[in-house]
This record gives sequence, C-alpha cells and structure tokens, in this order.
Amino acid sequence: MTDWKSRAAALYDGGFRPMFIDGKWVPAASGEVMDARNPANGELLATVPKGAAADIDAAVAAARRAFDGPWSKFTPFERQALLLRIAERFEAEWETLCLSDTLDMGMPIARTLANSRRVLGMLRFYAGQAVAIHGQTIPNSFPGEILSQTVKEPIGVVGAIIPWNAPIAGSVWKIAPAIATGCTVVLKPSEEASLTVLLIARLMAEAGLPDGVLNVVTGHGADAGAALAAHPGVDKIVFTGSTATGQAIARAATGTLKHVSLELGGKSPVIVCRDADMDKAVPVAAMAVFANSGQICIAGSRLFVAREIHDEFVARVADFAGRLRIGHGIDPDTEIGPIISARQSQRIEGFLGLGIEEGARAFTGGARHEAPGLEGGHYIAPTVFGGVTDAMTIAREEIFGPVISAMPFDTLDEVVERANATPYGLAAGIFTNHLGTAHKLSRRIRAGSVWVNMYHAIDPAVPFGGMKMSGYGREGGLEHMYEYLQTKAIWINT
Ligand code: NAD
Repeated sequence: MTDWKSRAAALYDGGFRPMFIDGKWVPAASGEVMDARNPANGELLATVPKGAAADIDAAVAAARRAFDGPWSKFTPFERQALLLRIAERFEAEWETLCLSDTLDMGMPIARTLANSRRVLGMLRFYAGQAVAIHGQTIPNSFPGEILSQTVKEPIGVVGAIIPWNAPIAGSVWKIAPAIATGCTVVLKPSEEASLTVLLIARLMAEAGLPDGVLNVVTGHGADAGAALAAHPGVDKIVFTGSTATGQAIARAATGTLKHVSLELGGKSPVIVCRDADMDKAVPVAAMAVFANSGQICIAGSRLFVAREIHDEFVARVADFAGRLRIGHGIDPDTEIGPIISARQSQRIEGFLGLGIEEGARAFTGGARHEAPGLEGGHYIAPTVFGGVTDAMTIAREEIFGPVISAMPFDTLDEVVERANATPYGLAAGIFTNHLGTAHKLSRRIRAGSVWVNMYHAIDPAVPFGGMKMSGYGREGGLEHMYEYLQTKAIWINT
C-alpha cells in the first residue's frame, strides 16, 4: 500500500517553486512570492511567484512567438503524438499528481485517484481529434469556375483562468484542445492552488511540449488574472470560476473584443420522484453535494423530494451524511476533506447561520467540524437542512460547501417551475423509475447537464457547460474543440 505520508513529505518541503514562462522556470518580475498552504492543516508546502501584469506580458509574448513560429509548423499528427506522450507521462506520474492535488487543495486522495479515467481520457480524446480537424468544399454560384472552401484555423493565444477546486481536470481540459488545434496557452491557476498546475507544466515539458506553447503564471486574480483578461495579445479567454468574476472577465474582454467562454457557478436541483429507487438514490443524492466537501460547481444543493417519500428520504440522506468520514485528504479512508481556506469556511458558516435564522432546521451537521490534530485546517460537517423554502438564502445562493437544502414537492409541473426558478443553469439530477418522467423532466429543466438516476458523470467526449448565469461555451466533446478554432473561407478563381 502506498505510504502517502512519506511521499507527501518528499514532494513539498516549504521551498520556492518558480513559474513557467517560455520553457523556463522563473520567479515573478517583482520578486514577490505567495504561500502555498495545505488546507488540511495549514502547513506551508511551498512558496510560489506572485505574478502580475509584467509576467503576463512576458508569457503572452512567449505564447505569441510560439504560435507564429515553431508551433505553427507542427503537423496535426505531431500534435497528436505529443498529446499521447503527455497522457503516458501523466499515467506514469498519476499518483504524484493526485498526491499534489490532495496536499494543495484538500480533495481526498481516493477521489483524485479515481478521476484518472476522465483526465487521461481528455488527453487521448483530443489526441484523436487533432488529426480530424477539417473544413469543407462548398458548392457556390459559379460551378467549375470558382472554388470555395473553408479551413479551420487555431484561434491563437488562449488565456485560461481556473479556480482551485479541481486543478488537474480544470487545467487539462483547457490545455488539451489547445494542443490539438495548434493554439498556445497562458494559464493562470487560482492563488489558492498553484502547485499541481506547475507540476502539470513540468510533466508536459518533459513530454516534449515546445517552449511557449504552455505558460503558467501564478498570482492573484485582481492583478495577474485581470491583466490576462484585458491583454490585447490574447485572442480568447477560457474561464472557470464564479459568476461574479466571469462577469468582470467578460467586461474586461470587450476592450479587445476577444472571444470568451465562461464556466460559472450553479445552484443545481436534484429531483427525487415518488417512484425512485430509494436505496440507489440516497447515496447518489447525498454525494451530489458532499463530494469534494461541496466545493464543486455542479453540487446538487437543492434537493426536491416528492412529498409522499420526503421525510423518509431526507432522514436517510441525513443518516448517510452523518456517517461520512471527515479528515485529512491524504488518509485513503477520508470521504470529506477540508474547506480550501479560512475565508471560504467562514463564508459557509455564514450560510449555516442564515439557514437557522431564516427558519430551516439542520437534520445533521450545521456547524464546523473540529478534526483532532488538524487544528490549522477548516472542516464543515456535512449538513442537511429541512424545512427550507424557495425564498431562503440557502436555497437561492451558491454556498460552495457541504450543505443540502431539502424541500418537498407535490406535482411534476410544480417542481419543474421551482427547479428552474434560479439564475443558474449548470446541472440537474432526476431520480425516477418511470421512463416517461425521465424523458419529460430532463427536457424541461434548463441546465447544461441533466443526469437521470446518477450524478456527476463528466466525460471527455460529452459537452459540459452552463445555461443562463452559469455561463456560455462548452468544455468536452467536439464543441469544446471548435471553441479553439475559427473558420476561414477561401475563394479560388480557377
Ligand atoms: P473565483 O471566481 O473567485 O476565481 C476563479 C479564478 O479567477 C481564480 O484563478 C482567480 O484568481 C481568478 N480571478 C479572480 N478575480 C479575477 C479578475 N478580476 N480577473 C481575472 N481573474 C480573476 O472562483 P473560485 O472561488 O476560485 O472558485 C469557485 C467558483 O468557481 C464557484 O462559483 C464555482 O461554481 C465555480 N466553478 C465553476 C465550474 C464550472 O465548470 N462551471 C467549475 C469549478 C468551479
């Protein structure tokens, strides 16, 4: 069995970890650094550069040089081979990558290890697509005289900004289609979780990624992130994060009319119909929120249960929640890891207080969890609120923590209306054994992903993204690749 503790001590020792620009490992131009701490116990893992506008300038210039220069000479088959080599490198170092993620952002090791299929699949899926990109020959009004055709060209330099809650999948999903299409990338990870993204850059460089194709600038959103979003040398911004930041980025991008795709927040409904298979639905509905301590954009945080089964179902979800093992993510048995930071934990505690104040009742949880020996970390007990109404703050706002708001419903028409009564539209879950109900409800819910009798499924080949204030653009599948391409029409007078 892997000795995660000794491997952890060998991986990060509190030293300085530079960032990656133009194939070189460099400090910030200002020389400033910021701490990378383990959210499980607050220990210092490393310091990383506190990059800002000057570093973004250098990274964008490197990405432009690579895009116009050597990288543009790579054939689709060479880009495919590179992606496959990266996938192999990742597979060989998978445990180290997962360990880094667990230390850096707290996700339990069992969960990061289980994500491999999806992340390695992303690299291999886009490797397959790299050689399949093509335009069309299109009939026009001058047959035999003028030839008109389309070609698909890479959009250029892509600025990618990601949150802290899934650094491996979050960054790979943005880099893989860029490599497939021939774009270059400047990636800014979250200031809360930079280390695994730096490790990803190292593995990609070792697999032969040319200088400047991927640049990672660590730093805060307000300086490095804002500089990237507004930069005139960037052709497209792909962003994952909160809706408020997404709005700021869309505004910043209008100055240069750069393309933007946004994967934003959610307040996803989970609907349990009276004919649902309770034994199967209880753990899935619970983990729809509690996975990664609720720090997932698709968290199914509004639990609508048919009135006939509401009390029993919610009691069983609360019982399940109460038995989840909370602790350091490095322990293979841990199911609920820490909250990323004191600030985020206080924000969640604020919602817990508001829930009670506005009249909800906590069937389980409802407070911080004190984990022995982990006093420097922040833990929230998985919480199930009953007696919730649609108007309560906990039923309306994205909490980004392990908190369920359970509510009964009477008719399908009513629950569709209530499920859709949110500015968000990221995801939804439906539990029913009736095919007609599954079909009708899934079509009527306004969300980018709807799962029936399951939750969380995300696959490299299937598009994922939001409707309404959950953003626009898709990640995954062919649609994602087309986000990195633009169409040129060529006319040839024969
Ligand atoms: P955040 O919006 O605070 O930060 C996300 C990233 O944006 C970070 O790298 C941050 O440094 C950067 N940033 C902050 N201000 C910026 C600015 N003015 N200009 C440019 N960049 C800026 O989000 P977070 O707290 O890191 O993550 C949680 C949020 O992300 C939640 O709302 C969650 O729903 C959302 N999220 C969405 C998805 C999705 O796929 N839809 C996935 C994961 C997380």
